[in-house]
This record gives sequence, C-alpha cells and structure tokens, in this order.
Amino acid sequence: MENLKPLFGSIKQLQRPLIIAGPCSAESREQTLATALELAQAGIKFFRAGIWKPRTKPGSFEGVGARGLSWLVEVKKECGMTPLTEIASPAHLRSALRAGLSDFWIGARTTTNPFAMQEIADALADYSAEVRDSITILVKNPVNPDVELWIGALQRLYAAGIRRLGAIHRGFSSYGESLYRNRPVWSIPIELRRRLPNLPILCDPSHIAGRRDLIEKLSIQAIELNFDGIIIESHREPDVALSDASQQITPLRLKQIVDNLPPLGICTDGESLAPFREEIDRIDSELIALLARRMKVSKEIGEIKKRRNIPVIQPERYNALMARRVEEAQEISLSPDFMRRILSAIHEESVRVQIENDKSESNINNLD
Ligand code: PEP
Ligand code: MN
Repeated sequence: MENLKPLFGSIKQLQRPLIIAGPCSAESREQTLATALELAQAGIKFFRAGIWKPRTKPGSFEGVGARGLSWLVEVKKECGMTPLTEIASPAHLRSALRAGLSDFWIGARTTTNPFAMQEIADALADYSAEVRDSITILVKNPVNPDVELWIGALQRLYAAGIRRLGAIHRGFSSYGESLYRNRPVWSIPIELRRRLPNLPILCDPSHIAGRRDLIEKLSIQAIELNFDGIIIESHREPDVALSDASQQITPLRLKQIVDNLPPLGICTDGESLAPFREEIDRIDSELIALLARRMKVSKEIGEIKKRRNIPVIQPERYNALMARRVEEAQEISLSPDFMRRILSAIHEESVRVQIENDKSESNINNLD
C-alpha cells in the first residue's frame, strides 16, 4: 500500500489533528442539521452520522436508512462540512454515491467479515478511476484484536483502487466486566502504524469508552500517542439520542475537549526525549540478551528432560514459579497482570524451544 493519497480528496489543508464529530445516528432532518450547525460553529469541519446502524439486537434503532442521505447532503451545503457515514454493503455504497456523498467509514463488525469487505471492494472496483479517487474510506478495527484482519480489510479496498484510506481504533470487544465498552489495545494501532507508515490513524474514544466521562482522557491519550485525529460522537441532546446515548456529548462539551487537547508534536520533540530514548534502547538490549540467556538454559533443561523421559510441561512447577514471580514483581510496583502476560509468553517460548529440540533429535520431521 505504497501509493496512499492524503485523506479527503477535495480538502487541501487538513486540520491536524483531524477532528470528526457528529451524532451516532442521524435521527431526523432537524436533529441532524441542528447538531451539524452547532458543531460547525464550534469549528468542526468533518461531520459523522450513521444512517444504517449495525445493532447487536434486532428491535433497537437500526437507523433511518437511505432517506437520511439527503440530510447529510444538506449538511454539506448548509454548514460547509464534509459529511461521513457508515457503509456496510454494496447497496449502501451505491445509494450514498448516488446521493452525492463520497466519504465513508466501515464499522467494526463489517471489517471483521472478509466476505462483506470483498463485496464492498468489488462494488468499488466497478466505478471509474475518477470516482474512486474522490472517495475516502476510514476502516474501523475489527471487533477482535487482530491486526491482520484490519490490514486485510484495508488491502481489499486498496486493491479496488481506493487510495484515500485511513484507520480508526475503536477498541475491542471483551468478555466480562471492563471499564471500557470496547477495550483499547494501543499496541495494535501502533503495530498498524509500523506496518503501514503512510496510513493516517484516528482514535474513536466514544466507542472505546461507552461513557461520557472517559472521552476527554482517551482523546488526550490518543493525541499523545501520535494518532492523526479523533472521531467523537456528539449530539445536540445526548440524553435522548436513539443510539449510544451514554457516550454522546454536546457540541459545547466537544469544543472544550478539542480546545484542551495537548499541543501537537509533544511526542516528536527529539531533543528533550533523546536521553530517555537512549536509556530505553540500552535497557531493551539488556532485556534481549537476558532472554537469550534464559532460552539457552531452558534448552539445556529440555535436553535433560528428554534424556530422563520427563515431560516438557510441568504444571505444578509452572504455577509455583508464576505465583512467586508475580509476588516479587508486585513488591517493586510492577502490575501483576503485566507480569503474568510476560511470564506466560516466555514460558510458551521455552516450551516451543524444548519441543523443537525434542523433534530435531528424534528426527520426527523426516517421518512427514
Ligand atoms: C458507529 O460508529 O456508530 C459504530 C456503529 O461504530 P462501531 O463500528 O465502532 O461499533
Ligand atoms: Mn455509535
């Protein structure tokens, strides 16, 4: 994906960070236009509103459908904003393009489904190069934390000739109680940035949080992590919103949040960060060397186990080791959960090394 173009074809100079705001759903012409006007007065140039809503349960508000398209076109004319809406099928794409819209996002549930993504890509490929060049598509992360699925969705659109692409981190579903509606996993968008350095990445604090009071903190965090922008749900009367009421904020509150965002580039101030970065580099090298030493010992243990016919995995030893290390880590203020994840990754690799060792010595590979 080498030849990506800047987002939003017609706009030459983008605000950075890019701020997109608007209601979860366009509910009526009146609500859509009134919210857009207040947002435009707050300086917002990009307006979001869903008209086809992917809801988990039937019977919840599933959007107004195609009749909302003309309201979004009015937002463009009356408020001078660029409207974006969600598309999830070729039919959505075609009717939105016919109405005169060209900027879209793909929702998390759609990104998760390669069949749906390919159908949208095939429909896009049928348009002329000129139309495809006018289209911008932002792809939300899939529901589950799978960077390949996210990249795959982007690649399908790229292969269909779409060059104005962006990504949105909206967090991931998880089972059980959590502070967040969709847990953020920052390492995933960071990996996406490493893999596709030219791709703009936005954060959606509204769908991560699921509640108003976390939105400001998450927005600041996203800017500090060098995201290119944020997309926030804002409704003129959040409490009576037909979808996602608890996470929507008024245009006034949105303006306060945007005004309080930290200055850009605080993460690129090479001068003041340089000594810390050098220290981090040194520590990382030490960690790598230590891990290599640990694996070597593990391999030697593996050889002894093999000679004595001891099984590779010994659950009692592993559980005892884990408990002791987690306790030790806690004493020096390391999070137990972090320690558990690190230890289980190291253990998994040790087991792999020992099993590999086993295989190569008995030449199992030759039996394939
Ligand atoms: C939305 O943006 O309103 C939406 C449905 O989001 P997601 O796909 O992130 O759930
Ligand atoms: Mn929503």
